[in-house]
Amino acid sequence: MSRHLEGTFVVATHNKGKLREIEELVAPFGLHAVSAASLNLPEPVEDGDTFIANALIKARAAAFAAKLPALADDSGICVAALDGAPGIYSARWAGESKDFGHAMEKVEAGLRERDCVTPAQRKAWFISALALVWPDGHEEIVEGRVDGTLVWPPRGAAGFGYDPMFLPDGETRTFGEMTSEEKHGLPPLGKGLSHRARAFIELAERCLKR
Ligand code: IMP
Repeated sequence: MSRHLEGTFVVATHNKGKLREIEELVAPFGLHAVSAASLNLPEPVEDGDTFIANALIKARAAAFAAKLPALADDSGICVAALDGAPGIYSARWAGESKDFGHAMEKVEAGLRERDCVTPAQRKAWFISALALVWPDGHEEIVEGRVDGTLVWPPRGAAGFGYDPMFLPDGETRTFGEMTSEEKHGLPPLGKGLSHRARAFIELAERCLKR
């Protein structure tokens, strides 16, 4: 049985880009979101080997520490020509200094090494796993995906992480060139565009009331 989320919950992330997007996505549902950072919750070690495992690690840690329901996103970009890398290591490719310019250069260097120059050779997809965990142990999990092509040089300064090099299929602008509303692509204007918005739509159908 699925369960409805009401009142106050923790967004189990210390990533400002993700926090902003999650706050935007929950805004129409009359919930009160507090961030793990504002509660000084420690960041757990993400040693799972899937997006879902890592989302559960973060949501469980926050729910038990804060004694509130907690929503965590574990996400990343998977590059076909790099056998799905960086995948769950997407944040780590940016290093200690969280330099995503450097992380994008690393992806591009990998594509060049393999002579991947045509759009068909530069396919990638973003995944977002969302885990919603209550302090009593109830768990809800969804996953969203968006497919696209990697462009070089990166385009646009909006969004975060790898957004400027990701051109979603069927679009002419990268995520870095879109407003966050366009990147979400939520109904009634769209069916959900980003991986996070697609996962969120499924979670909302199951667990959120307008
Ligand atoms: P984690 O889920 O905190 O391990 O980090 C996921 C990493 O994947 C982020 O730091 C970003 O670099 C990347 N990522 C996830 N979602 C997005 C997105 O919507 N746009 C750009 N990069 C993303």
